[in-house]
Amino acid sequence: MILRSCSSQPTSTPRNCFLNPFLAAHLKRRALIWKHELRNEYCLKSISRNFRIRALETDADQLDEATAERTKSDYGDLVWPSPSDEIPFWKGDFPSWDISEDPVDIQKDSDLMHIVHVTAEMAPIAKVGGLGDVVTGLARSCLTRGHKVDVFLPFYECINKQHIKELELISTYDSFYDGSWVSTNVYRGVVSGIPVVFIDPSNEFFKGQSVYGGSYNELEAYLFFSRACLEWLQVSGTQPDIIHVHEWQTGSLPLLYWDMYHYLSLKKPRIVLTIHNMEHYGECRQEQLNKCGLDGSTYATEEKAVDDRTIGHNPERLSLLKGGIVYSNAIVTVSPTYLKETLCSGWLAGTLIRHRDKYFGILNGIDTAMWNPATDAYLPAKFDANNVEGKKICKLYVQRGLGLASDRHPWDPDTVPLVVCISRLVAQKGLHLITNAIRYVEELGGQMVILGKAPDARVESDFKGLAELHSKGSSIRILLMYSEELSHMLYAAADIVLVPSIYEPCGLAQMIGMRYGAVPVVRKTGGLADTVFDMDDQSQPEQANGFVFEGINEGSLNGALDRAFSYYREKPGEWRAAVKKVMQIDNSWNNTAGKYIEVYNSVRVRNH
Ligand code: ADP
Repeated sequence: MILRSCSSQPTSTPRNCFLNPFLAAHLKRRALIWKHELRNEYCLKSISRNFRIRALETDADQLDEATAERTKSDYGDLVWPSPSDEIPFWKGDFPSWDISEDPVDIQKDSDLMHIVHVTAEMAPIAKVGGLGDVVTGLARSCLTRGHKVDVFLPFYECINKQHIKELELISTYDSFYDGSWVSTNVYRGVVSGIPVVFIDPSNEFFKGQSVYGGSYNELEAYLFFSRACLEWLQVSGTQPDIIHVHEWQTGSLPLLYWDMYHYLSLKKPRIVLTIHNMEHYGECRQEQLNKCGLDGSTYATEEKAVDDRTIGHNPERLSLLKGGIVYSNAIVTVSPTYLKETLCSGWLAGTLIRHRDKYFGILNGIDTAMWNPATDAYLPAKFDANNVEGKKICKLYVQRGLGLASDRHPWDPDTVPLVVCISRLVAQKGLHLITNAIRYVEELGGQMVILGKAPDARVESDFKGLAELHSKGSSIRILLMYSEELSHMLYAAADIVLVPSIYEPCGLAQMIGMRYGAVPVVRKTGGLADTVFDMDDQSQPEQANGFVFEGINEGSLNGALDRAFSYYREKPGEWRAAVKKVMQIDNSWNNTAGKYIEVYNSVRVRNH
């Protein structure tokens, strides 16, 4: 059985090349390999029904030289995309993204608990960056291990309600804000198999077309949200073992818990704070903290929540993140190397050193059900470490869809590596290195696609200029938007995933890229240093899985790209082995959620 294309894409094979007997023999061999590969039922199954495939029975012996004339489009009756398509290929009609089933057989924990996450983000319904992925991945992993888990999330107006199952209004209650009580709806629903409680105040908070950046006061909205979550636990008589808060947005919750709700009715919960990025401090004036019912002035001390940088200024400010660090029972940051970095630099280092005994570094995992190239509904073809044929289709699909050169003869070696960079376009991510990579990859004869959103208008305009400059060429594409679907396709298409961050608490892009068979090129910092090990480092060959550079100048990055490109072109066998190896690395939550469970167990109280 083979797949036949109905593509009208003209073949680029010159007719007279078949006059050459060596070439004809080579083509015949290649055709037989194709036949074998395409017979593989995996390949058939691997091509999603979303991409309109027609499979035809064909006698294998009919394969002859003419068969070899086919271009790469012969991978199936795949409808190949083109840049002129009315609807871009990543906006197709995909099945709704539900990955609620348990991914693998996970052993249940024996000592079960109730964990409530209080968070500003949750993938895929309210995701801006890694925070959303982490909450969903960790919550699912703990559920799979048998724990009871709920996620408390603001009911942002921008959430697509179609992605929420069993959504229902369960109550209306009042929560305090700025001297009065705000009527608040509470909804329940299920997202990717995880129970979610949506907090929906009747005021202007959380209205707008994006998770962040609405026209309301963000800091005050999250102060309200933090208290509203505790208020709901009290109203509903719920006493979880652990309240797990994330980032500055929920940094006031530990203060509210220990100085207010613990004296009221909530006795059992203990608080764990995860810091995903130390650069966002939650700067807060004392009178703003007053609005959630606390006395802001009592926190304006060095031991509590004063922002150390403002000491001696008038007025001094508070930091919700610092308050969260002081008042939580345990603090986690998202990689062991970032933990060390944060103890050595930054104004919070002193506070973290004082609380060192409750501060842990746990590497993030990735949700391997959400990020699985063997089942990913967004991919034109599926693949795994043992069969990467589908990855070639994904590369070709993206190349054609974006108008990148893809006219290589199918029997020629692919010497044009595709470099992909999927990132928020902010200074942390190494903007000057990303723009340098665009130039250098083109110079090296490779291709590069950037998918990113720039919150800063100036950065956005710089990248827009670059995007326009390259839009007519055939090797660089810069797509300034957020698209979950396209990100999946790009990881699948990529030969190399580039993460040149100046600092990176953990970084998910390199881990996701590896799962999709893209070899990482990263700067050695934070979680990148914990997950990527250089291929040329002879001291740890068993760990080697990518290309690492240390400096922050363009030359350092260029050196790593040079090495990656020469492996790709000159050592194809080693490259293939690297692709297989990175796909087999277990960066799943199954691997690291256990460390969170240990932290939860170390602070929980059992006899309430
Ligand atoms: P950060 O949390 O600092 O943004 P991470 O690497 O931890 O960085 O996580 C980034 C996540 O956001 C990854 O899942 C990445 O694929 C995704 N992402 C970043 N930018 C985009 C974009 N423009 N479109 C789609 N996904 C994106």
